[in-house]
Amino acid sequence: MPNSKPHLLIAARLPPLYVQALHAEYTVHDRLHDTDPAALARVAPEIRAIAASGESKVPGTLMAQLPALKMVSVLGVGYDGVDVAAAKARGVMVTHTPDVLNDEVADTAIGLMLCAARQLPAADRYVRAGQWLNGAMPLTRKMSGSRLGIVGLGRIGKAIADRAKAFGMSIAYTSRSAKADVPYRFVANVVDLAAQSDFLVVITPGGAATRKMINAEVLQALGPTGILVNVARGSVVDETALIAALKDGALGGAGLDVFEDEPRVPQALMDMPHVVLTPHIGSATQETRQAMSDLALNNLKAFFAGQAVLTPVPELR
Ligand code: NAP
Repeated sequence: MPNSKPHLLIAARLPPLYVQALHAEYTVHDRLHDTDPAALARVAPEIRAIAASGESKVPGTLMAQLPALKMVSVLGVGYDGVDVAAAKARGVMVTHTPDVLNDEVADTAIGLMLCAARQLPAADRYVRAGQWLNGAMPLTRKMSGSRLGIVGLGRIGKAIADRAKAFGMSIAYTSRSAKADVPYRFVANVVDLAAQSDFLVVITPGGAATRKMINAEVLQALGPTGILVNVARGSVVDETALIAALKDGALGGAGLDVFEDEPRVPQALMDMPHVVLTPHIGSATQETRQAMSDLALNNLKAFFAGQAVLTPVPELR
């Protein structure tokens, strides 16, 4: 019997639970564009959908190789790796997975703030290395009651603010426009926001509009006791300026979940004890990856059933 399952290209390393679900519904070609371009060329006319992740690259050149492509389903809320303009021009739908990961990414941001301020990873290393036997660890700094600046008060930014309220923090934010529905103070300029903050948490989309938005001037304004937390995209922070500011003491510390050239992390950052590093795990729990996978799969199912997709990216709504 001929295989009637629609053909789908996986464009990135995806969670096994999602890949398994995809195999049940589709004829899956896993990352052929990277591993075997000749094999991709043979099946290219059949491929109708791409399953991507928030970090994967889906350039217009890849779409151009797939004449039957009609859908890109991104597992993640950020879709800065997808050339949406090219998709739109070709009549290709792009979906993502907003909202279902808000809690998880907000929890990660708060965790990084606490870890960077209270030096929890360093404290763990201190005990394991037997240094406690020689005396107490140096004092750290308090997070509760301090000033938080949020760069990007969207779905996740608001979830971070909700949690920060419980820490008694005073909250201000910047975004493209002031929000009427929040009690937090809007600061139009990111340098001014940094100057008025003890913690600056970055949670904007990536892409050209936010590239290196957190530059030397912003870091200087945050200052020698300030802490930067980036759970957005590596591209939003000028990593060279960040390393310089941390090295010369212009910035107090950092908690980083995302990097310019993932999964490669500059050795200079790894060598700094006052920096906390995590491998892009903002949404990486069983529960949340399951919810994201369900939504990404349901977008594909709706599309192939000829129904409206559930969560198209804003440009294609
Ligand atoms: P969202 O609801 O669209 O919120 C984005 C916020 O960023 C909005 O407040 C928006 O301002 C602001 N913004 C956009 N462009 C800006 C610019 N050029 N200058 C200043 N502010 C700007 O998105 P979300 O669901 O909260 O997700 C935000 C991002 O988090 C994602 O795009 C992704 O990159 C990142 N993320 C990371 C992880 C991780 O694992 N670390 C996980 C999930 C998401 P307006 O409201 O004024 O438009």
